[in-house]
Amino acid sequence: MNQSSAGHLLRLIRTGRATTRGELQRVTGLSRSTVGGRLDQLFRAGWVRESAGDPVEAPTGGRPAVRLRFDTQHAVVLCADLETRHARAALLDLGGTVLAEYSGALLINQGPDEVIERLAQWFALLLEKADVPLDAVCGIGLSVPGPVDARLGQVVQPPMMPGWDRHPIVETMRRAFTAQVGAGAAGIPVLVENDANLMAYAEQREGYPDCSAFLLLKVSTGIGAGMVVDGEMYRGFDGAAGDIGHIRLGDHPDALCRCGSYGCLAAVASGRALAEQLTAAGVPTASGSGVREQLTVGQPDAVRLARDAGRLVGGVLATVVTLLNPGVLVIAGDLAGPPFLTGVRESLYQRAMPRTTAYLQVVTSRLGERAGLTGAAAMVVESLYAPDRADRRLSEMP
Ligand SMILES: [Zn+2]
Repeated sequence: MNQSSAGHLLRLIRTGRATTRGELQRVTGLSRSTVGGRLDQLFRAGWVRESAGDPVEAPTGGRPAVRLRFDTQHAVVLCADLETRHARAALLDLGGTVLAEYSGALLINQGPDEVIERLAQWFALLLEKADVPLDAVCGIGLSVPGPVDARLGQVVQPPMMPGWDRHPIVETMRRAFTAQVGAGAAGIPVLVENDANLMAYAEQREGYPDCSAFLLLKVSTGIGAGMVVDGEMYRGFDGAAGDIGHIRLGDHPDALCRCGSYGCLAAVASGRALAEQLTAAGVPTASGSGVREQLTVGQPDAVRLARDAGRLVGGVLATVVTLLNPGVLVIAGDLAGPPFLTGVRESLYQRAMPRTTAYLQVVTSRLGERAGLTGAAAMVVESLYAPDRADRRLSEMP
């Protein structure tokens, strides 16, 4: 592998390891003219710019060096975050800044063709709203509430996405988007990933970039966990890692889960389960977001049930935490709030060894509802501008 290609210089610039010509020479051992040639490729592509407004002090009184920066404005990504009954879509620059956003009701159980067609319409509207041309779109990122085999870009046996099993999401997305905006969309890269993984990725990068073992638990309609290890999403062997909502608890044999089994964690401690329990207690609640509304106003039954649910989830997390030894555990989703967190802490600290939890921070999300979109955009950018892919894309430019 060529460790000194333009793509590798781009990575050094993006990560901040080397942001002047001099630093690039020192880190790579390349000559001044070779670095200059590689940078010219990056300048021509519009990927890197020099910011003259921010000169750094030259060490020996020569010309002040000029900072090199990844130009986060030279392209955009389109992302969507699918929930079971609702979705949000956004147009973001390459630094993750939202340029236009749209959200609305969208039932995932209508199946991939209908849902993806709606997303394609939303994407077209976002481009129009932000007045951005199609050729500025470098990629599309989709966050879905199910296990994803990222190599195939397909969801595999998703408990909460009926009709989506092994559907060719990438091809359907390209076709639907092309139908909306024209043939220019046919070759746009489309990446699909599990929602909890993307939320973990976004939260880790945003708030805990130095945390090498990071865990996020999402509790909304369902329950899922995402892991980031050494800055990378940990997906497991084929993308099934973290789907802890369907671990069967021993003591709830009558609780029927959406996956068809009885006694799953999600059947007793998810937003959907709590909505049913609240309704049975005389507080009509339709969904996980309904539970959130009840928690916001401090409805006593909702508070009690959320704390109980937190205890159940914390019991499962004790095993997860013992295996992974994370430095940070973020609790996100509809139920994430003080009652649920209190319950998680109670059983987690009681059941896991003190050695495992000594430095563990259990906290709520920083990015809130935008975590999925932010993570999806970051995934697309990291994929498209990774050294090898960047070199390939540069070589294909006219
Ligand atoms: Zn289940």
